[in-house]
Amino acid sequence: MTNSVAGGEILMELCAIDMSFTGASGERLNVLDEVNLQLREGEIVALLGRSGSGKSTMLRLIAGLLAPTSGEVRYRGQPLRATNPGAALVFQSFALMPWLSVQDNVELGLAARGIAPAERRQRALQAIDRIGLDGFESAYPKELSGGMRQRVGFARALVLEPDLLLMDEPFSALDVLTAENLRTELVNLWATEDFPTKCVCIVTHNIEEAVQLADRVVVLGSNPGRIIAEVVVEQPRPRNRRAPAFVAMVDQIYGLLTGRDTETVAAPQDTATPFAVPLPDASVGGIAGLLELVQGNSGRADLPVIADELNFELDDLMPLVDAAALLGFLLVDSGDVILTNVGSNFTHADIQASKRIFAQQARQRAPLVRTVCSALIGSGNQSVRADFILDLLQRGFSDDDARRQLELAIEWGRYAELYDYDTDSGRITADPAADLQPA
Ligand code: ADP
Ligand code: MG
Repeated sequence: MTNSVAGGEILMELCAIDMSFTGASGERLNVLDEVNLQLREGEIVALLGRSGSGKSTMLRLIAGLLAPTSGEVRYRGQPLRATNPGAALVFQSFALMPWLSVQDNVELGLAARGIAPAERRQRALQAIDRIGLDGFESAYPKELSGGMRQRVGFARALVLEPDLLLMDEPFSALDVLTAENLRTELVNLWATEDFPTKCVCIVTHNIEEAVQLADRVVVLGSNPGRIIAEVVVEQPRPRNRRAPAFVAMVDQIYGLLTGRDTETVAAPQDTATPFAVPLPDASVGGIAGLLELVQGNSGRADLPVIADELNFELDDLMPLVDAAALLGFLLVDSGDVILTNVGSNFTHADIQASKRIFAQQARQRAPLVRTVCSALIGSGNQSVRADFILDLLQRGFSDDDARRQLELAIEWGRYAELYDYDTDSGRITADPAADLQPA
């Protein structure tokens, strides 16, 4: 095996990186704070963090697609001032050109680098072969399954023979089995003698994926994104998810991820803003279901165990746990969750009473729900345009995130019978019976 961790040469360096974005009305959103990272030849590094912790932003900095607000990005010792010539990217969404065949999609990057047609053709065929797409050269993306499309995504990156392969959640849009297959193939490719890539940096929110693939897991915290820990994974490949050492490491990293983040999530200040404490991406039904499970487990549970019993990834449960903690229904104590009194009342109450409890907790503890309630109280007619809230959200979130936050606030508020959204008028209207004042 050519690739080993043994202190290879430094390929990339992020030195004292701060990154902030400026919103529409000039306020700053601090996304990365004092990030220092080195990527070396011979290693696979996973950047692990929750949604919004700045993982994609870090990858775009490394790729030279973004310049930092302050600090320096270096490739082979030289400050990076344009697109990184040694890097190729694989995206979650595949990002293929639908009107081009597999062959032409794979050749695209070579054409951009001014390589002659005959060589393009030959190199693309080789990459297509290497990644198991042989025979699909003239197919179009829409004729392919998700897994095959992502193979095209890989071929398109590998054909460039990059020093550095950057992958942004490349497996998260695939079903479990396909994802597992592709991960295994990636590890096998990495182990081949003539694999030209010297370093792989993969972004993921999935702890098990990080431990399965990486030599080093860089754990990111949120608000602002920063490195909170680094864990070296020394287990030989292929790694067995059931092995005690594997499970122990997943537990350890899980503790690192929850330990710090939940401090801010579990006890938001009255003054916390919807930007500082976003609503976790969880439905009311999902939150209630999780609480019932914990209740059924006599009020205390080990999350990795619950995840395993449900045949879910731990990471799929995290937004539910975050939401329940934000609402004060659960306490998180490194890896274990404990039902609070309020959480227990909520689970036992009848539907009307549980709505009242949810309303009280959300109004008090979920900043965006509080903001919507305040806007409704402040408006003369107990109604506000949803676009008004959306516009505010877009000042601190990307468009997609802002929309999702609004959807969540509406779902939570609707369940709590605090307010409702009318599609025809595009307005959020207070429920006539609701008390919108925080308790
Ligand atoms: P992750 O990949 O970990 O989910 P991102 O790097 O995509 O996180 O985003 C981190 C934060 O930066 C998020 O709050 C996101 O809304 C914000 N953000 C990312 N790109 C931009 C941008 N171009 N303008 C404004 N905010 C952005
Ligand atoms: Mg991302």
